[in-house]
Amino acid sequence: MAPVSINNVRKSYGALEVLHGVSIDIADGEFVVLVGPSGCGKSTLLRMLAGLEDISAGEISIGDRVVNGLQPKERDIAMVFQSYALYPHMTVEQNMGFSLKLARAPKEETRDRVAKVAAMLNLGDYLDRYPRQLSGGQRQRVAMGRAMVRNPEVFLFDEPLSNLDAKLRVQMRSEIKQNHHRLKTTTVYVTHDQIEAMTMADKIVVMHGGIVEQMGSPLELYDHPANLFVAGFIGSPA
Ligand code: ADP
Ligand code: MG
Repeated sequence: MAPVSINNVRKSYGALEVLHGVSIDIADGEFVVLVGPSGCGKSTLLRMLAGLEDISAGEISIGDRVVNGLQPKERDIAMVFQSYALYPHMTVEQNMGFSLKLARAPKEETRDRVAKVAAMLNLGDYLDRYPRQLSGGQRQRVAMGRAMVRNPEVFLFDEPLSNLDAKLRVQMRSEIKQNHHRLKTTTVYVTHDQIEAMTMADKIVVMHGGIVEQMGSPLELYDHPANLFVAGFIGSPA
């Protein structure tokens, strides 16, 4: 767990600036949802938190460390992608334990840790299966399990449920929240789905065209939208 501070962060690709000075403070253990239309800069901001993109201007801190310029592996974060990005030739157990193996954790410890997280995610009976033998929901759980075994300070999710059908999405939302209640890991969760934002967030950050339009609790945004964009975006059904 750690607080995250994003301070007047800008991002340009060549001459094109896509983030125009974004500031967000995230408390230790908070579940923050970044929401906004496609192309508004959500993934770019998340990738900057992860260290997968450089920061053109401004500052990002995780815990008490400024992380500008630190490589992804030097940051204590784990990211879950929409595509899951599982290794097809590895079993569930190997996928989930891979980062610990890279970190040269003792085998026993890795096996115990993976078993514990797998049980939390209802994957205990699937440890010997390969990704192709799993359902979409199970693959998504493995992707989350892979992040959870590392016990990072911060979880980053980029539209993790977009590839699932509507019913499974509802179930996975509540599973992700349950895990957050248990682990209390600081989480930044990106979605373009208003319902996901309203049901999951401690704090919602509404982005639009590379700026933050408003942030606050779901209720604050719903009751007191700062402008028409927020009102339309939060108010309209997905
Ligand atoms: P979102 O995740 O909210 O849909 P992105 O962060 O992916 O938005 O993209 C924000 C803007 O930055 C978009 O206009 C996109 O076209 C642009 N962009 C993203 N990545 C690159 C890149 N590697 N090179 C140039 N432009 C990019
Ligand atoms: Mg995106």
